[in-house]
Amino acid sequence: NISTHRPVIRQLDDAAINRIAAGEVVERPASAVKELVENAIDAGATRIEVAYADGGKTLIRVSDDGCGIEGADLPLALSRHATSKIDGSDLLDIHTFGFRGEALPSLGAVGRLTITSRAEGDAAQLRVAGGEMDPVKPAALSRGTVVELRDLFYATPARLKFLRTDRAEAQAITDVVKRLAMAEPHIGFTLRDVSGGGEGRVTFQCPPENGDLFDALHARLSTILGRDFAENALPIDALREGFRLTGYAALPTYSRGAAVAQFLFVNGRPVRDKLLYGALRGAYADFLSRDRHPAAALFVTCDPKLVDVNVHPAKSEVRFREPGLVRGLIVSSLRHALAEAGHRASSTVAD
Ligand code: ADP
Ligand code: MG
Repeated sequence: NISTHRPVIRQLDDAAINRIAAGEVVERPASAVKELVENAIDAGATRIEVAYADGGKTLIRVSDDGCGIEGADLPLALSRHATSKIDGSDLLDIHTFGFRGEALPSLGAVGRLTITSRAEGDAAQLRVAGGEMDPVKPAALSRGTVVELRDLFYATPARLKFLRTDRAEAQAITDVVKRLAMAEPHIGFTLRDVSGGGEGRVTFQCPPENGDLFDALHARLSTILGRDFAENALPIDALREGFRLTGYAALPTYSRGAAVAQFLFVNGRPVRDKLLYGALRGAYADFLSRDRHPAAALFVTCDPKLVDVNVHPAKSEVRFREPGLVRGLIVSSLRHALAEAGHRASSTVAD
């Protein structure tokens, strides 16, 4: 009651601020995996391994062979809004996955995080739990970075209750890793379920692919979506007014009963964007019956200034400056490819 009780405005401490921010950045184990794998990609890794236990609830560990972090910089990497990726002067010109400098401090606020890294100097390690940072210690690591996150959400039990079964969370982790693996065919990925300890079991693996981007992507899609997809996929490469569309779109005969094989990327970032899904659907409208869904992995690339990826912390939504242009590019280039492949309207085949 405002008339009798004067409200007090106070500055929240860092631990509280990080927990609040974490609520936006880290929804579930898969979002932690996404942030950590994106960091490994940004670090120039050529091989990335993701291990998880109990659907990622008790353990997530991401190891990379990227550029590493100097021991003296570890506390900074774990601090809020500290990033090596932008200088803040142009938020519309972003070339890396990360830029907010929020992931590591957020993860350190909602779980027990240990980061071990080696750059030029000696390897070092830093632990953070519930937002409390230990001093940096010497460690042993030949190169790159290992981030281990234990007991995600132990500090926020309310969030813990919203998690789904281990199986469902593991599925979401797999999905995230596969999408990022499609975006980065030159990087090798290994996913391991280490529930119960030990080496665990490899649940997904793709080797680093060589060759130009089309060949590498084709090989990668074949590993992830199966040879069947790769054999039925048409290469797409189209350009319109600064927007390029590349990737593979499957023949209508390879359509699915649900929209489970639609992978869309903007400037290398996996997105779930209504505009893009709508354009994909529109492109196939004349070739598929209403209950069938196309399969495709498509990449829109453009000058970062033509798209805002700063819409949401989880960054799976984007905003184009010229949505009509992007839609038109997708619809016309896919239609053209499908028509060329000789498929008449509404020719469909059941699974
Ligand atoms: P952001 O990715 O938005 O910069 P993060 O909190 O994810 O913010 O990471 C903070 C910083 O820590 C990064 O800018 C980067 O310099 C460093 N960093 C994080 N993960 C790695 C990694 N795997 N390899 C090398 N440097 C890393
Ligand atoms: Mg990051």
